Amino acid sequence: MIPAARDESTGGRPALAGALDREQLGTATGYRTTRLCRSAAEAEQARPELSGAAPQVFGTGRLPEVAGIVATHGTGRVLLVGSDAAVRRSGIERFLPAGTRRFNGFSPNPRLQDVLDGCDLVARYQPDVVVGVGGGSAMDAAKLARVLPPGDAGRHAVLHSDVGLLRTDAPALVLVPTVSGSGSEVTRFATVYDDGRKYSVDHARVLSTVSIVDPDLAATCPPAVAFSCVLDALAHAVESYWSLRSTADSRALAGEALVTLRQIAAGGRRRLDSAARVHIALSAIRAGRAIDVTRTTAAHAFAYPTTVRFGVPHGLACGLHLIWLLDHVASLVETDCVDPRGAEFVTARLDEIASLLGVEHPKESAHALESLVAAAGFATRLGMYGVTGADTAAIVGDGLGSVRAGNLPVRLPPDAALTALRDRL
Ligand SMILES: [Zn+2]
Repeated sequence: MIPAARDESTGGRPALAGALDREQLGTATGYRTTRLCRSAAEAEQARPELSGAAPQVFGTGRLPEVAGIVATHGTGRVLLVGSDAAVRRSGIERFLPAGTRRFNGFSPNPRLQDVLDGCDLVARYQPDVVVGVGGGSAMDAAKLARVLPPGDAGRHAVLHSDVGLLRTDAPALVLVPTVSGSGSEVTRFATVYDDGRKYSVDHARVLSTVSIVDPDLAATCPPAVAFSCVLDALAHAVESYWSLRSTADSRALAGEALVTLRQIAAGGRRRLDSAARVHIALSAIRAGRAIDVTRTTAAHAFAYPTTVRFGVPHGLACGLHLIWLLDHVASLVETDCVDPRGAEFVTARLDEIASLLGVEHPKESAHALESLVAAAGFATRLGMYGVTGADTAAIVGDGLGSVRAGNLPVRLPPDAALTALRDRL
């Protein structure tokens, strides 16, 4: 149960432009429906280095185009991966061939056994196309079911980093998000949980062949879910911006996303109108493209155990940890910078993040984010979600064990993380 810090119906609207037309959207996303690759290998070859350039259909009311896209891939053997609710609400089955098979046997934050069941179904049915519909969990399940190799030994080897075993002959993958935030439709990662441990597969073969982003599909999304996803995309933008792997291009994408997402969150939790859904979808794609280049950092590393152990939704968990990390990074950039580009470089980026968050100094960024989390309708202290002092050591142990934690521009010793977490209870 998520404690709400404010009434859902309150809050003003952010000052955003109205709905954009299709031409503007094409320009804004940076890539239109340009080409449809016939195989994963072809798609991989065709992609420019600043990725996220998977062909994409973007715009309200464009879901029906899934029919034509599926028809370009083989003979119409389609496996649809999505929860019953996502499939029903999206109405996607109307546009898929008769005889389309379904896979819905996965939980939120999919477990390894869910994914292995999906792989078995792919092996038995041998679809030409896997279509994933839903939120981040459905995207992860579809990505992994389609690309993990046959046999348990190979699948486990991939999860332990032997990504060379990922299928090169995988069916095409069409991703259709029904809520904006994860950016999964443009990233090359997929996550699965086993016994509380998180495994992330990170490889170009995980990318979708094409995605369809129709912001109307999020029209029925409950505001609590939509705003947690806004915080997810916002965390992607900030973390990408300060990542050790950031580039001028990735920061441009992340910066644009951050400004819009800040405005959306500041407007307060509410049922989103069509224009807001379009802006969030665009921002989630931009932030997704940015992390596809840079990867996420420590806020995501600490969010995973918080989600697994306490059931805090992924985006909200990222936002809660990003609050203390903004403070930590701003305080230690002078003395504990680990970015080879130097403390001066990172300080300039922190100044930019502060400005994108609407404040003057990096030391104010944490407070700015805390206000946005509260405006989005969430309690901002970890203690409100059941985290106690006794739990912090386990969260720190899991968080610092993630490779994502090493992508932060300053050192993060365990005792500093423990102190910071306890201050946020
Ligand atoms: Zn995320």
